[in-house]
Amino acid sequence: MNYRTSYLLLWIGLLTALVLGCVSVLVGVIALAVTFLQLLLFYRCPHCRHSLPAQGLPPSCCPNCGERLG
Ligand SMILES: [Zn+2]
Repeated sequence: MNYRTSYLLLWIGLLTALVLGCVSVLVGVIALAVTFLQLLLFYRCPHCRHSLPAQGLPPSCCPNCGERLG
């Protein structure tokens, strides 16, 4: 999975966690945990594997190695 898919899954996961949180707080928290776990594992620079900043839009260049992303 590349960082773009991971970024998309972040938003899908947040929305899912919000909806599931209305049904059950525990399930919502689990969905949130899974969302952030995948972000931690896959939201990384494809060149140096440095984790990318999760706030805002995905950067066009890696903040660690300076390589262009995507
Ligand atoms: Zn990098």
